[in-house]
Amino acid sequence: MAKKGETRIIIHLACTKCKERTYTSSKNKKNDPDRLELSKYCPRCREHTPHRETK
Ligand SMILES: [Zn+2]
Repeated sequence: MAKKGETRIIIHLACTKCKERTYTSSKNKKNDPDRLELSKYCPRCREHTPHRETK
């Protein structure tokens, strides 16, 4: 199923405000070698907050 190279990995996105892991995502290790930070809607904060990649 996985393509050769394994550059695409699963990550979790945690709200930087409440630390809740709200989203699961995947990213390309080659395109994003550093920690991703995305603005996402957090249902706990009930607003858009920066979500940071965790493991
Ligand atoms: Zn939150």
